[in-house]
Amino acid sequence: MKAPSASVPPGRAMYALIEELYPICRSITGNGVRDTLAILARLAPVEVREIPSGTPVLDWTVPKEWNIKGAFIDGPDGRRVVDFRESNLHVVSYSVPVRERLSLEKLRPHLHALPDRPDAIPYRTSYYEETWGFCLSQRQLDELPDGDYDVCIDSTLEPGALTYGEAILPGASADEIVISTHVCHPSLCDDNLTGIAVSVFLARWFAAIPNRRHTMRFLYAPGTIGAIAWLATHREEAPRIRHGLTLTCLGDSHPFTYKKTLGGDAVIDRAAALVLATSRVPHALIDFFPYGYDERQFNSPGFRLPVGSLMRGRHGMFPEYHTSADDLSFVSPDRIEQSFEVCRQIIEVLEGNETYVNLAPYGEPQLGRRGLYRATGGTDIADLQLALLWVLSLSDGSHTLLDIAERAKTGFRSIRAAADLLIAHGLLAPAG
Ligand SMILES: [Zn+2]
Repeated sequence: MKAPSASVPPGRAMYALIEELYPICRSITGNGVRDTLAILARLAPVEVREIPSGTPVLDWTVPKEWNIKGAFIDGPDGRRVVDFRESNLHVVSYSVPVRERLSLEKLRPHLHALPDRPDAIPYRTSYYEETWGFCLSQRQLDELPDGDYDVCIDSTLEPGALTYGEAILPGASADEIVISTHVCHPSLCDDNLTGIAVSVFLARWFAAIPNRRHTMRFLYAPGTIGAIAWLATHREEAPRIRHGLTLTCLGDSHPFTYKKTLGGDAVIDRAAALVLATSRVPHALIDFFPYGYDERQFNSPGFRLPVGSLMRGRHGMFPEYHTSADDLSFVSPDRIEQSFEVCRQIIEVLEGNETYVNLAPYGEPQLGRRGLYRATGGTDIADLQLALLWVLSLSDGSHTLLDIAERAKTGFRSIRAAADLLIAHGLLAPAG
């Protein structure tokens, strides 16, 4: 895929990226992650980092590196009944190499299917226990005749590295916003190619903004071990994270879900709640719980970094999750674009959330004399007019623009635009 031009609608461009990434067999280590990051690096300044196998990281150890060339099961009549080339979900991720002939009875414990979803291939992993296995649909499993099977997994599990990517976009302040997405899932779209696509297009968008306030860090790391490895190797930088989001499941048809930080009242929690409410998109706000993706690591007691999580369908709560049904037809360009827009507006709140003082605080300044009364054209006249009054009214040095937007129950962009207009007319100045 070529780098899309600015005129390409982001939804289509993000979907095209997902189509390109979909066939790659990713895992928590290996060439699938490297190939994925190389594609992302064409779109945003993603730098690739590697941590050798065996490196202690917090309470964990970087595992051996896993790679796979192919895998199959041939039936008693020589017919190929399972082929990795048809779906990389067919092999349990991190399967050790195997080449054996064995009976169906001996093979059965190595076969995984979903009795409730007979057409779907499950996604299974065995990162920390050396074993091997195949995943197939229940329908395929039911059709296997008795007899001897030839089984081959052409994989390697050897000392190598854990690979992750990060794009750091410096701002005026060393204070950071982190956007983290896991890059360890094979051919699954919603979880988490949508998160990856939204994140890398956010990085493209943010990189083009002049006068950035925060430093933005986009992390593309394998789930759990990747975030743990990053935190272990960034003990100095981690406390600079002021706001964070993990992104997953952003292309399905469920309403948005925002999972709060552990504290539940961080600026990121308020920014996400405001954007979702004022965008009038169906959504739910849920409290933190210690299961999910890398928000768990960032929020752990030793770090307690305010990282929330944005998704549509909740991981584990919809039947397509972690199965072959989470394919290209399960996600749509429109929904991915809407998710991008929600994320962009959340970042705009974090970037634009400043505190001001009204420079004409005695009574209400005469807006008409300054050309500010019904000063703006377009359809948002009343909205902006009211926003000007809210900003003047609350800008006493103790209310942020986010405080004001929450109180006014209005979109942050209106409040931010009102503040900029008042600054331009000498009625508002930064507090302190
Ligand atoms: Zn997952």
